[in-house]
Amino acid sequence: MFDLKDLYQEVIVDHNRSPRNFGKLENADRSLEGYNPLCGDRLTVYLKLDGDQITDIRFDGSGCAISIASASLMTEAMKDKTIAEARLIFNNFHELVTTDGTDIDHDKLGKLMAIAGVRDYPTRVKCATLCWHTLHSAIAGEQTSVSTE
Ligand code: ZN
Repeated sequence: MFDLKDLYQEVIVDHNRSPRNFGKLENADRSLEGYNPLCGDRLTVYLKLDGDQITDIRFDGSGCAISIASASLMTEAMKDKTIAEARLIFNNFHELVTTDGTDIDHDKLGKLMAIAGVRDYPTRVKCATLCWHTLHSAIAGEQTSVSTE
C-alpha cells in the first residue's frame, strides 16, 4: 500500500536536511525576521520583487525541523509568483494547518500538503506558520520583526 503519511514525513525530513533557497539573498528588496519564542525558531525571509512579482525568495536562520522544512517548501512555492498568487497560497496554507481543510484545493498545494500533519499539534502550528507570517508581513512592507507571541 502507498502510504501518504510516510511520503509527507519524507518530504519534511528531506527539506530539513537540505533546505532549498537557504542563505542570505544579496540585494534583497525586502527582508524580515520572524521569531517563535515557544520553540526558539528564528528565521529571516528575503525577497526580490519586480513590480508585483516575487522574482527571488530565500531564507536563513535556525529552527526546528518543521519550521525549516516549512520555510524551504514555502520558498519553492512562492518563487516567480505574483503577490496576489502568493496571498492565495498563504491563505490556502493557513487554512490547511488550522482547519480540517475540507475546502482546500489539495492539487494546488502540492508538496505543501506535507506540513498538514501539524494541525494536530497546536504548538507545532506556530513553527510551521512562522515563515509564512514573516513573508506576509514582508510583502506588506512591514519593518518590525514578526513574533508568534
Ligand atoms: Zn519550531
